[in-house]
Amino acid sequence: SVKEHGRSHFRYYREDMTNVFPNEALMEAHLRRAIEFNELSIHLQPQMDLNNNSINSFEALLRWNNRKFGFVSPAQFIPIAEASGLIIEIGDWIIDEVCRYQKEWHKKGYRPVRIAINISPKQFRKENFARKIKATLKKYNVSPELLEVEITESSMTNVHETFSILTELKQLGVFVSVDDFGTGYSSLSYLKRYPIDIIKIDQSFIADIEKDDKNEAIIKAIISMSHNLGLEVIAEGIEEPSQVAFLKRHQCQKGQGYFYNKPLPVESIVKKYFVS
Ligand code: C2E
Ligand code: MG
Ligand code: MG
Ligand code: MG
Repeated sequence: SVKEHGRSHFRYYREDMTNVFPNEALMEAHLRRAIEFNELSIHLQPQMDLNNNSINSFEALLRWNNRKFGFVSPAQFIPIAEASGLIIEIGDWIIDEVCRYQKEWHKKGYRPVRIAINISPKQFRKENFARKIKATLKKYNVSPELLEVEITESSMTNVHETFSILTELKQLGVFVSVDDFGTGYSSLSYLKRYPIDIIKIDQSFIADIEKDDKNEAIIKAIISMSHNLGLEVIAEGIEEPSQVAFLKRHQCQKGQGYFYNKPLPVESIVKKYFVS
């Protein structure tokens, strides 16, 4: 009900709050100054190794807390950032932040973990993308295998271009994953054509595991195809123990979702996973 809704608004952060900005132009204007005003931060979501319940990797998810309108969902502002080109500056900021954490954690003697960052199509296809990654790894002296680049099928529009960027990334030694796998329109042939390391099964398939036999069949097929191609496979959006059981039964290697952990601020992740 509206009343309950209002109450939860009052008491909790609502990261999924919508329509906080009266229009997109105003959102863009605020987004333009988000870095300068320190409004951006990164949350990390642990990825669970389903074989031994260990956590050796995290996904970086951008958060925007606007001084005037509060939290804005990435689902709302990422498309604006992409359309306006602001995603380049924001994306560069994320690469820098994540590499900076890695350097700091290494210095403190924390165990090595991989961090995955989401890359928008415009950022991926920007001329110097791989060079930017290389330069930032060098700036903070970070091992490339500690960085993962998540792209979606929508980044792979041009075969030659995609091949050349992914080859550059491969040569650097960073990991590459396909996010939201199964929701795009690409032909599966890209899986043999491009140097890809990881497939992330989209959460929409996981959500209905028990209610829908077709989803089960699709997930099983994705897992077995990944194994046969020598790719790592990770399931997104795990919320229920029954989903974990299904995924383990079918040898899915990794899982990510609220069942295990919501994305958390970096300081909380450090306290929980690194400082003993
Ligand atoms: P994504 O990369 O597929 O990220 C997964 C989304 O699912 C995240 O939403 C995460 O918080 C959410 N999630 C994780 N576990 C669960 C679960 O168990 N159940 C449900 N229902 N959701 C879960 P978030 O953080 O709101 O991000 C939404 C999308 O925005 C991301 O989807 C990604 O496409 C984009 N995004 C987020 N951060 C960045 C970024 O730094 N750069 C770019 N380019 N895009 C980003
Ligand atoms: Mg992602
Ligand atoms: Mg996804
Ligand atoms: Mg997505």
